[in-house]
Amino acid sequence: MVVMGKVYTVRCKGLDNEGRGIVEFNNSTFSVPYLLPGEKAEISLVYGKNKTWAKLERVLTYSPDRVEMSCPVFRRCGGCTLMHMSYEAQLRWKQEYVARVVSQICAALDPPKILPILGVQGDPFYYRNKIHATFAVNSRGETVLGLYEESSHRVVPIRLCAIEQPVAARIRKTVLRFARAQRIPVYNEDTGRGILRHLMFRVANDGSVMVVVVVGQGIFREKSLLADAIVKNHPEVRTVVLNYNTKKTTMVLGDREETLYGSGYLEDVVGGCEFRLSPRSFYQVNSPQMERLYRTAIDFAALRPRDSVVDAYCGIGTITLLLAKAEPAAQITGVELNPEAVADAKNNAKSNRLSNASFVCADAGSFLKEMAVRSQKLSVLVLDPPRSGCSEEFLRACCMLRPERIIYISCNPETFARDCRFLSAHYHLTRVQPVDMFAQVAKVELVGKLERRRF
Ligand code: SAH
Repeated sequence: MVVMGKVYTVRCKGLDNEGRGIVEFNNSTFSVPYLLPGEKAEISLVYGKNKTWAKLERVLTYSPDRVEMSCPVFRRCGGCTLMHMSYEAQLRWKQEYVARVVSQICAALDPPKILPILGVQGDPFYYRNKIHATFAVNSRGETVLGLYEESSHRVVPIRLCAIEQPVAARIRKTVLRFARAQRIPVYNEDTGRGILRHLMFRVANDGSVMVVVVVGQGIFREKSLLADAIVKNHPEVRTVVLNYNTKKTTMVLGDREETLYGSGYLEDVVGGCEFRLSPRSFYQVNSPQMERLYRTAIDFAALRPRDSVVDAYCGIGTITLLLAKAEPAAQITGVELNPEAVADAKNNAKSNRLSNASFVCADAGSFLKEMAVRSQKLSVLVLDPPRSGCSEEFLRACCMLRPERIIYISCNPETFARDCRFLSAHYHLTRVQPVDMFAQVAKVELVGKLERRRF
């Protein structure tokens, strides 16, 4: 019998796919956050509505991979699920995780070559170029900015964060000082009253910053004053956007926007191409690693003149344009569902003078199906779907179009493996390159190369 409130002594056997320690006792298996393989520890159990959680109380014997972290909100904010592990050990775990998932889908006869993970060169901290914080009121009635505590709706105030670019902390301070001095009410999720809801930043490679202030009301009288305070104190801020999100939702950004300062978008340079991105467009969060991820995808694609290429789930057209630049005689079509990102992508093609890239706003599955129905030519397919992977419609259309190569960029090895299995009758997964886009976090990114089988 497992008893609530009681402390159990356990030994950790390994890590699960979310980087939590696996322990077994009383014929049950539990996942314990922040526990490392080989460690002996005391844990307790917390009973939720539908689930029982294991909580680490005390480590009794330490793993050589454990490191001391000085981050003041480590474990409370719940974001950095691997920060207690040395960076080398994090990379080792990510490599093993990819190998394990991939080996489950490949027959013993033709396993792919899994290349050593591309880890961060230099400091694996202070990298996030997209930073988000939520406004809240603390127990003293003061306005604070922080992150939601893991699996709860409490906001943990954040002054410094060890994985975000440091400029964010400085701007947060200015915004908080302004909000407190002007007594601007914080938005209340339950009543729908109040104004300040979220603050988001994006930082370009040259240090330029976009600030997005999200409000829960249609009227925010001090908006220009706030933009002035931000711009005056932080010359690196190139644009300030006000986003209205008046709905009861967990989504950060609403549909309506107003530019308070600058152009309303951020410009960044990646792989020699210039990209503009709007507040709601997707962008990889680790810029130096993004460049290495894309370089791998372009190498795997090995385009030739006259190739007809689709870059599915293309966002603002980063990979599309780098492919177009790599092989000017190939035709590349980017497909993306978010109209704002498609507008960015079209603009980016124009400003980089890449006339061999074009963009379509559509669901990637419907687009490929339409291509298959019309028996259109497809030489290489590049895809970079969200965590949920591809739809069956997408994969079926793939098998009908029969491109020579498929380059699959994935932020979720499990859906990647599922989709590769679907394609395995026609395609052989030959290479996998893991890339660490999320140092300190138990998330793995990879690029897979699938080649059409010759029967
Ligand atoms: N390749 C881009 C974006 C990858 S993120 C980059 O590296 O920056 C995944 C993208 O897929 C997002 O831009 C999202 O808006 C888009 N998306 C999500 N579902 C989609 C669908 N069904 N069809 C097309 N695009 C989709």
